[in-house]
Amino acid sequence: MNKARYNRVLLKLSGEALAGEQSFGIEPEAINQFAREIAEVAATGLQLALVIGGGNIFRGMAASAKGMDRAQGDYMGMLATVMNALAVQDALEKHGCDTRVMTAISMAEVAEPYIRRRAQRHMDKGRVVICAAGTGNPYFTTDSAAALRALELKCDAIFKATKVDGIYDKDPAKYADAVKYDTVSYIETLEKRLGVMDSTAISMARDNDLPIIVFNLYEEGNIRKAANGEPIGTTVQG
Ligand code: UDP
Repeated sequence: MNKARYNRVLLKLSGEALAGEQSFGIEPEAINQFAREIAEVAATGLQLALVIGGGNIFRGMAASAKGMDRAQGDYMGMLATVMNALAVQDALEKHGCDTRVMTAISMAEVAEPYIRRRAQRHMDKGRVVICAAGTGNPYFTTDSAAALRALELKCDAIFKATKVDGIYDKDPAKYADAVKYDTVSYIETLEKRLGVMDSTAISMARDNDLPIIVFNLYEEGNIRKAANGEPIGTTVQG
């Protein structure tokens, strides 16, 4: 088996990945698909932290557009990510993967509080750390949480697993002539608003030279390929 190119990686999963064919909620079968692959990759020795989104359940910004206080909605969104994290933990454990959910908002009966050094220790021991409740602060997103956790946990890269197979110059769902980038710079991503991750996350990655690898979660073997440094998807760097 190839030695993974990366030793420690932060995998960002959006809430929509947990909803499967549905537009809302949690579909255990959908989670099961990628959980198997994550468990396999973790078993090869790749140290993994996951950051889980919550958009399949609740988004503060969408609620605030309909009149809800933004911060109130954002806290609800963060709580949604905790439900998702527990669902992912359940699926990973069914595949024999040792995991810990760590929350940025304390709820000790449900999960461990996020403590950086403890999270690192879990990863050293081969446990997959599932980071829930985003950054713990409103007005942020789980993309920003992914950049933050990747940096403080000293990950080599962010893997952003999505529905498409990389970053395109325009929306491939709308334009047949959309062209996929193999690599793209942080600045171009920001300036052209390529919609990979939000601008806070891209800026943090840029300031700290943290590569972001964007690839299709639904293509079998992609997480392993990304871990081995095979050229898949689009790499945001430089
Ligand atoms: N959220 C927040 N602070 C954070 C992370 C998330 O307030 O640090 C809230 C915010 O309302 C967001 C929701 O949680 O809309 C769900 O996260 P996100 O939209 O990033 O999920 P994804 O799009 O990845 O499913």
